[in-house]
Amino acid sequence: MKMQIKTHQRSKQSGPSKVTQHGTNRRGGGLPNARPHFEPAESREDQEVGVIKAYAAQSAISPVGPFAIRRREVGVRDVQIEILYCGVCHSDLHMARNEWHQTVYPCVPGHEIVGRVVAVGRDVKQFKAGELAAVGCMVDSCRTCPSCRAGLEQYCERGPVLTYNSGDTHLGGVTYGGYSKAIVVDEAFALRVSEKLNLAAVAPLLCAGITTYSPLRQWKVGPGQKVGIVGLGGLGHMAVKFARSFGAHVVLFTTSPGKEADAMRLGAHEVVVSTNPPDMNKHLNSFDFILDAVSANHDINSYLSLLKVDGTLTLVGLPEKPLGVAAFNLVGQRRRFAGSNIGGIAETQEMLDYCADHGIVSDVELIKIEQVNEAYEKMLKGQVKYRFVIDMASL
Ligand code: NAP
Ligand code: ZN
Ligand code: ZN
Repeated sequence: MKMQIKTHQRSKQSGPSKVTQHGTNRRGGGLPNARPHFEPAESREDQEVGVIKAYAAQSAISPVGPFAIRRREVGVRDVQIEILYCGVCHSDLHMARNEWHQTVYPCVPGHEIVGRVVAVGRDVKQFKAGELAAVGCMVDSCRTCPSCRAGLEQYCERGPVLTYNSGDTHLGGVTYGGYSKAIVVDEAFALRVSEKLNLAAVAPLLCAGITTYSPLRQWKVGPGQKVGIVGLGGLGHMAVKFARSFGAHVVLFTTSPGKEADAMRLGAHEVVVSTNPPDMNKHLNSFDFILDAVSANHDINSYLSLLKVDGTLTLVGLPEKPLGVAAFNLVGQRRRFAGSNIGGIAETQEMLDYCADHGIVSDVELIKIEQVNEAYEKMLKGQVKYRFVIDMASL
């Protein structure tokens, strides 16, 4: 299909594309560990790599379809990555359909990105052409505020630059995500990936992985604790794996009776079908910690009442509409209702290293890019097992 270049970014023409349709950059080479023959861009005035293929939503009601975007020229601290796999997060669906009422169109979703480095800037220290690299939900932040200095870039006081739908500080317009052939990112926001793991199954760690690892670490989940995970989707199945790996007693809550066997295989000690009140009541006042990864509206009070005194329920799911919390449910047992957003860059690297050491990856279903709209529909029906990952060779 011939792609029309419609972009909100500066319309400067950069001549023939330096990125081929296969995402390789001749100047960057492609041999493992080969130092690229690369002349870095000195100024931000000349930063366009060229036009590459992508998939975008053009409106809240249009399917995600072919689109062309520009990537900036590789700057002195930048890494250019040929994207090999990109996970499909429920946030992609929320954003593509403007369910959070903030989407700028065209919107190129995708923030579970893994691929191979094809070019690096002169001052890049941590990556060489030919190595694996990954990009998660953020591509920059202010780097100076207290949160950034504490390694909590996701809570940057000026707001992190998200991988898609954030203001693009280099080209103008908004950032474009991983449903595309390549990405250029400052090395400070690129992650190192082990060659030991199945690369397609690593992709979801960049969002589903870190979003569940971070709160489980923050609330010190470990041996001797009873921990609940609500919803067995992309985030939920990673939460089950991590909570089990950290040594907790893991109870999975699901609305889908058909997922019981999978939940046990993934690491749950017990599975509760949450639509069955007697089964829920057996667990009243018994949990140290519950992680809620549900994408749609649901009764949060039925989970708060399962916490024991001083127990914490942390929300990572981001339903479109507010959740109603019954005050008595919190006050009565000095319970805590908290939230958590992805994880910082250092913690994301820690999580990837932990996964490499412990052989943890996501359970994935590989799809072609043209199946992404179908994947969204299956996600809405709770039919993903347990993360769709796009094979970017199909773009
Ligand atoms: P997902 O794969 O679609 O999983 C969501 C799961 O929620 C479903 O598999 C289903 O599990 C359960 N569910 C769906 N509808 C439900 C309903 N009406 N009532 C009760 N349970 C329902 O989604 P995901 O990619 O894991 O994302 C989950 C949520 O986290 C999304 O809202 C996403 O935007 C958000 N998110 C947040 C962050 C963060 O940083 N906080 C990061 C990434 C994603 P069962 O079939 O087992 O019931
Ligand atoms: Zn995500
Ligand atoms: Zn900051």
